[in-house]
Amino acid sequence: MREALFWERAGDDLDVRCTLCFHKCLVKPGKAGFCGVRVNREGTLCTLVDDNVASLALDPVEKKPLFHFLPGTATLSLGTLGCNFACKFCQNSQISRLPADTGRFRKGTAVDARSLVELALRKGVPSISCTYNEPTVFYELVRDIGERAAEAGLRVVLVTNGSMAREPLLKLKGLVHAANVDLKSFSPDFYRNVCSGSLTSVLDNLVTMKEMGIWLEVTTLVIPGLNDSDRELGQIAAFIRNNLGSDTPWHVSAFFPCYQMLDRPRTDPATIHRACETGRAAGLEYVYGGNVANRRDEFTFCPRCHALCVQRVGFAVLSSCDGTCPSCGAPLAGVWR
Ligand code: SF4
Repeated sequence: MREALFWERAGDDLDVRCTLCFHKCLVKPGKAGFCGVRVNREGTLCTLVDDNVASLALDPVEKKPLFHFLPGTATLSLGTLGCNFACKFCQNSQISRLPADTGRFRKGTAVDARSLVELALRKGVPSISCTYNEPTVFYELVRDIGERAAEAGLRVVLVTNGSMAREPLLKLKGLVHAANVDLKSFSPDFYRNVCSGSLTSVLDNLVTMKEMGIWLEVTTLVIPGLNDSDRELGQIAAFIRNNLGSDTPWHVSAFFPCYQMLDRPRTDPATIHRACETGRAAGLEYVYGGNVANRRDEFTFCPRCHALCVQRVGFAVLSSCDGTCPSCGAPLAGVWR
């Protein structure tokens, strides 16, 4: 356990305030913040997950999902425990909600940043992804990985809910190269009531990441009856176009019942296709359907001449290009090598 970054004393006693994310938790001695993994030890905020890796795997980078960042490569992917959101539909609740839901803290494998970078180099992969649970809550490990990876010439990816406070986010400039950010809804009430999150925090994070030069892709999980209206999908697409650029990839993926949201059906594949069409009609150049079998919605087409540039099935890349359209030579957005 080590002292956390981004906290301050709160008053004259041993209370502390964590300033790492929008919650700004007031943490009493012996207690943890909302995420369950940042604890007050006698007046000092400490992290329980600075080297506590609960999940470690080699994944296709397409699984993050990132379709325009080193396509066809594998990425060393890791997660710890805890999350600063509490999404009722969480697909990784076994690790993200374990400390907060049960009060138990299952120790993962102690792996430090240096070992992770060495493992990535041994495996011959070009990137390390902080994923599976929210990287914000293991900020110290993310930063350490970023510093070590930069020395080794590796790239770093965040798969995030986009709710880090601005100052810690800015401190990652140059250490993080790509991010997939969930934009779960365009409703503040949805964020508050379904996720214990904050829409404004996510929108601000997206704009800040864009300004930092991080390659961005955005994901929306489309849940029947909650965020699947044409109006809301159009609002999300318009935000991406107006604030992040029409060349920002948008992944719309299908929901399936899990965790505390078992009362809703799977998303109809036709709804995912409709969401893709909504994004394209709003002017987005790269819109992808996920968790459903509709191959055309997984392909990349040239935004200028509409030729097929990248063929995918699920996370597999069947044919790709060098970042330019093989037909007309127009550059495709992204990081291709
Ligand atoms: S990172 Fe955790 S402890 Fe810190 S403010 Fe966010 S939820 Fe609270």
